[in-house]
Amino acid sequence: MTEPIEVRNPRTGQHDYVIVPPPPIILTQTCTRLRRSQKSWQQIGLEGRIAALQQWKQVIISTQDRLTQALVTDTGRLSVSELEIGSFLASIDRWCKLGPKLLKSTRQSTSIPFIDLHQTAVPYPLVGVISPWNFPLLLSTIDTIPALLAGCAVIVKPSEIAPRFMAPLSLTVNAVPQLRDVLAFVEGGGETGAAVVENVDLICFTGSVATGKKVGEKAAKRFIPAFLELGGKDPAIVLESADLELATSAILWGSVVNTGQSCLSIERIYVAQPIFEEFVELLVTKALRLQLAYPTTESGEIGPIISEKQAAIISDHLQDAREQGAIAHCGGQVEKIGGGWWCRPTVLTQVNHSMKVMKEETFGPIMPVMPFSSVEEAIFLANDTIYGLSAAIFAKEEAQAIALAQHIEAGSISINDAALTALIHEGEKNSFKYSGLGSSRMGPAALTRFLRKKALLVKTKSIPDPWWFVDARSTASRRDAHQ
Ligand code: NAD
Repeated sequence: MTEPIEVRNPRTGQHDYVIVPPPPIILTQTCTRLRRSQKSWQQIGLEGRIAALQQWKQVIISTQDRLTQALVTDTGRLSVSELEIGSFLASIDRWCKLGPKLLKSTRQSTSIPFIDLHQTAVPYPLVGVISPWNFPLLLSTIDTIPALLAGCAVIVKPSEIAPRFMAPLSLTVNAVPQLRDVLAFVEGGGETGAAVVENVDLICFTGSVATGKKVGEKAAKRFIPAFLELGGKDPAIVLESADLELATSAILWGSVVNTGQSCLSIERIYVAQPIFEEFVELLVTKALRLQLAYPTTESGEIGPIISEKQAAIISDHLQDAREQGAIAHCGGQVEKIGGGWWCRPTVLTQVNHSMKVMKEETFGPIMPVMPFSSVEEAIFLANDTIYGLSAAIFAKEEAQAIALAQHIEAGSISINDAALTALIHEGEKNSFKYSGLGSSRMGPAALTRFLRKKALLVKTKSIPDPWWFVDARSTASRRDAHQ
C-alpha cells in the first residue's frame, strides 16, 4: 500500500509524476484527527461553515492557474479542465445558498394535539469520498462540498491515474485554518481506497461497477451507508418525428465531449428506420468536423484518452465490432500519437447487441447507431443492459417523448437534448440496476443524505396520555379508586 505509484502523462505517455500512498497507520491517524475536529466544525454552525467555504473559494481563485495546469497535465485537455474548475467553484456558491433552507430544524404540531415534532439532524462525523480519473477535480469535490456544509469532516481519495491536481488543491485547503482540520486529500490506489472505507462513517464512491460492488460489500459489513455512482451505457432514442439537426448535434456532444470519458456519455443510439440513413449521414458530417487537440490542447475538441487501460478497452470494443461486421464511417481506431493514445469520433453502423460496443461500457468517443422499427423495439433495446444511469429521447412532440421516458429504466432522461444531468443539479435521481445505489447526488437529497435525522417528540401539555394504563394515569385517580 505504501509503494510509490508512477503516474503516466496522457499526452506524452511518459511516467513523469509519483504519488506515495500513506502507510495504514498514518491514514488511520488522519481519520482520527479529522473525526476529532469535526465536532468544532459542527459547532461553528452553518454560518461559520459557509464563511470557511467562501474563504476557500477565494483562495482557489487566487491560485487558479496552478490548479488548471495540474488538471491539464492530469487529463491532457484544457477547455474541459476549465469547465471542471468553474463548475466546482459554482457548486460552492450553490450549496452555500441552498444550505440555510435545507439544513433548518423545524418544529411542528403532530397528529396528536399535545405532542410537537422538533425535527433535527446530525451530520455523519467522517465521510469518505473515492473518485475516478475522468473528471478528477469535479468528481472528488461533488460530494465533498455538501458533506462539509452539512457539518461532516471529509477524507478524499482521488484516482491514482490523475492525481496531480491534489497538490495545488491541498495547498488551498491548508490556507483556510478551519477547513484544513476537517478536509484531507490522500494519494493512493485501490488499497488506500479500501482502507478509507474501513475508517469512515459513510462512503461516497464514484467509479466502475466492479469496484463499486467491492466498496458496497465492505460498507455493508461495516454497516455504514454507501452512495455508489457507477458506470453507464446510456442510450439515445431518436423517433421519426425528431429534429435531426438538433438530435445529431446534441448526440455528438453527449457522446464525444471529454473524449467520451464520461459516465453519462451516450454510448448507444437507436434511430427510427425511415430516418436512419439521413441521421447517420448528418452525424458523420458533423463528427468529421471535430479535430484532435494535438499538437496543442487548443488544436481541437478531442483530447487524449486519459487512462492507458481504457485505450485498450476502446480498441478491443472496436476490433470486436469490426470482426462481427460493424462498419466505421469515420474514426474507427485508437492511434498512438506523440506517446499518447487518441481516438477520433467514430460512427458505427451494422451493429447489434452481441457486440461489446453495445453491451459493455466503452468510455470513448464511439457512436454505434442501430435502426428500430417500432417504439416497443426501441424501448426493449434501450433497456437491454445491466446499466441504468441516464438516457436521451428525441421527438417532435414533447408529450410523446415524456410518455416514452416512463418506460426507460434510467435515473435521468434528457428530452430533446443530451447528458443534461451533467449541467442541471436541481433534479433528484436514483441510478437503476448496476449503475449505482443510494440516495440522489443531485437535488436537495445531495445535501440532506449526509445527516442522520432525529425526531424530538415533545409533550406540550401536562396531562395524562389517553393510552397509558388506566390505573397508572395519576396517583390522584389511584387514590380515588382506593377510597
Ligand atoms: P475504478 O473503479 O477503477 O476506480 C475508481 C476509484 O476507486 C479510484 O480512486 C481507485 O483508486 C479506487 N479503488 C480501486 N479499487 C478500490 C477498492 N478495492 N476499494 C476502494 N477503492 C478502490 O474506476 P475508474 O476507472 O477510475 O473510473 C471510471 C468508471 O467510473 C467508469 O465506469 C465510469 O462510468 C464511472 N463513473 C461514474 C460516474 C457516476 O456519476 N455514475 C461518474 C464518473 C465515472
